[in-house]
Amino acid sequence: MDQKQSFTDVLIVGAGAAGTMAAACAAAYGLNARIIDKRPQKLAAGHGDGLHARMMEILDTFGLADAVLQHGNEFTMTHSWVQGSDGRVTRQAASSRTWEPPSPFTSVGLTQAKMAHILLDYVRQHSDIEVERGLMTESISVQQGSEYPVRVTVRNISTNGGMASFTADNDIRVDNDEELLATTGRPGVQDEIIKARYVVACDGAHSWIRRNLQIPMIGDDMDVIWGVMDIHPLTDFPSARTNSIIQGRGTGLMWIARERGMIRVYTVVGSAKSNEHGKFIQSSVTPDTILAAAQKMLHPYTLTYKKCEWWAAYRVGQRVATHNTHESDRIFLAGDAVHTHSPQAGQGLNVSMADTYNLLWKINLVVKGLAKPDLLETYHSERLVLGQQLVDFDRQWAAIISGNEPPKPPPGIKTFRVTWESIITHKFVPLIHGLQVIYPPSSITLSSPDTIEAASSVMDQGKLPSGITVGMRMPSYQVRKHADAAIEYLGKSFRSDGRFRFVVFAGDVSDSAHLERLRALAKWIRTLMEQYSLPGCQADSTFDNILVHTTSSLTVDLLDLPDIFHPFHPELGYNYDKVFYDEDITNRFGHRIGSAYEKYGVDRHKGRLALLRPDGYVAHQGGLEEFDPVEKYFKGFLIPRK
Ligand SMILES: Cc1cc2nc3c(=O)[nH]c(=O)nc-3n(C[C@H](O)[C@H](O)[C@H](O)COP(=O)(O)OP(=O)(O)OC[C@H]3O[C@@H](n4cnc5c(N)ncnc54)[C@H](O)[C@@H]3O)c2cc1C
Repeated sequence: MDQKQSFTDVLIVGAGAAGTMAAACAAAYGLNARIIDKRPQKLAAGHGDGLHARMMEILDTFGLADAVLQHGNEFTMTHSWVQGSDGRVTRQAASSRTWEPPSPFTSVGLTQAKMAHILLDYVRQHSDIEVERGLMTESISVQQGSEYPVRVTVRNISTNGGMASFTADNDIRVDNDEELLATTGRPGVQDEIIKARYVVACDGAHSWIRRNLQIPMIGDDMDVIWGVMDIHPLTDFPSARTNSIIQGRGTGLMWIARERGMIRVYTVVGSAKSNEHGKFIQSSVTPDTILAAAQKMLHPYTLTYKKCEWWAAYRVGQRVATHNTHESDRIFLAGDAVHTHSPQAGQGLNVSMADTYNLLWKINLVVKGLAKPDLLETYHSERLVLGQQLVDFDRQWAAIISGNEPPKPPPGIKTFRVTWESIITHKFVPLIHGLQVIYPPSSITLSSPDTIEAASSVMDQGKLPSGITVGMRMPSYQVRKHADAAIEYLGKSFRSDGRFRFVVFAGDVSDSAHLERLRALAKWIRTLMEQYSLPGCQADSTFDNILVHTTSSLTVDLLDLPDIFHPFHPELGYNYDKVFYDEDITNRFGHRIGSAYEKYGVDRHKGRLALLRPDGYVAHQGGLEEFDPVEKYFKGFLIPRK
């Protein structure tokens, strides 16, 4: 047998939503990583189709939000419809931008395939990581004590053109491994042993790695079979270019207005239990079955199509894995490998990508020797509970959308209560948009049970807490750039570069007392930067510093401010992108912008120091002269430079 052996710091298995985000992070941080996928070809169409506000914010920190907006369709309106006893649908509520979350972004409809292309283009531009397609895992084991303890054997199955039998418009069969193997490659040819420090299993709902590690999934299947299709509609439905939710009796339909004039329709096509025609079989579903079910739900309006880009039928399994981390602390599961749920709330893509966005910065710091391996334990404590909450939310959401009563939540799981009324009044908006995430107190998040309690009670009302909340993502408000007075969202400067970020609200820096306070703070930050910089790297390799003051840029010169806020590059000169000021102004469209201090809840005289984790979540906030908690924080999990 022809077997080669190779080594990598991080092996990502699966190039779906979670895997491509993991690869983008690895590229951004300069990690030594590989990504493999059993599919010999990249995804062509279909699957997940919506990115929500938090994910758009994250993509913006990679500089990718514009590309998504260019190719996608921004969701601006959602209409709610109800089917009457005469079978006719009537519109109950139409929301104009009311699903708009407190974020610079709202949701964008875009096929997962295009999303993956955008991320993988980024990966190619920033690293030499390429998806290695047609590589399927065959065995996995851990040898503790070794430098590269995880040993994964992979088989190359891309050696013939058998995949051509999997058409792009319904590629669901590709998840059937036996069929995949029967139509591709010769068994055993070009097997490879990959030895890795860490493995990130992003291998989807039927995760081979999860099954091999014997990590159980808890939950069950929904009774209904859903059909989904991406079509160019020929229709007189009045809400054709907005999203719609139609509730029927024991059934439902979701209509998503997509890019290029396309729509996605999800509709119930049958019950998975026996009915009067015998057991409904998922594989008997065709595009015609889905269209017929949709036509019935849209009465008296009509729907046909000539062009279908993708379709699928599925029975939803609502399950969560008992663990997302293997006992060796070397293998992590992410995305659908940990939580499966219905696609109707559009969470699959978003939560899966958010999993690896949470994990990769931690792996990066550990692999580079800057953080203690304990840091990785927080992946379990932060992400698994979110998976559980997501599945519970989905049970309610999917039941309501399919015209049924929502089930009661399992004891001990705190989730938002979904009702048809809450859908119409948009109370779930922060949750849908991924903005409600609040990480529990831990070595990397100095939140307190009181903060969490207070924030949760606000979020129960469908709102987000105002200001900065430790444990939540740092909100993004408009400020002006000191160097050129350009109006920008502050969140744009929270780049995904693997660094912690001090956001300093310094007040009026033309006031000598405020300026002195800022200088003392900057001096202290400088010592931290030196203490924790990466071996062989610049002093700013671990920390980035952003300043927001309240003084007009004409009063104070940028270069008179501490140099950590305008680092100098020998070839590129000064960096002018880190200092902002808050000004309450009205823009040329008559919109009031600014007042960032007010929105962040920061006192203009006292100022505030916010410490952000590399994923943009607030780790701590405190006074500008309170150094102790921050020093203790870093001592807790970082390893100082010798
Ligand atoms: C048919 C279908 C329709 C869907 N429709 C929607 C939708 O309409 N809306 C929505 O929000 N979500 C939808 N989803 C869900 C959404 O796509 C997922 O939630 C999301 O993609 C999960 O990301 P992931 O990276 O965890 O898994 P996936 O995106 O499924 O990626 C897993 C990857 O791992 C690879 N892989 C699997 N096993 C191995 C192995 N042994 N070795 C190497 N590679 C392997 C697979 O080829 C695949 O590329 C759909 C999913 C499917 C399968």
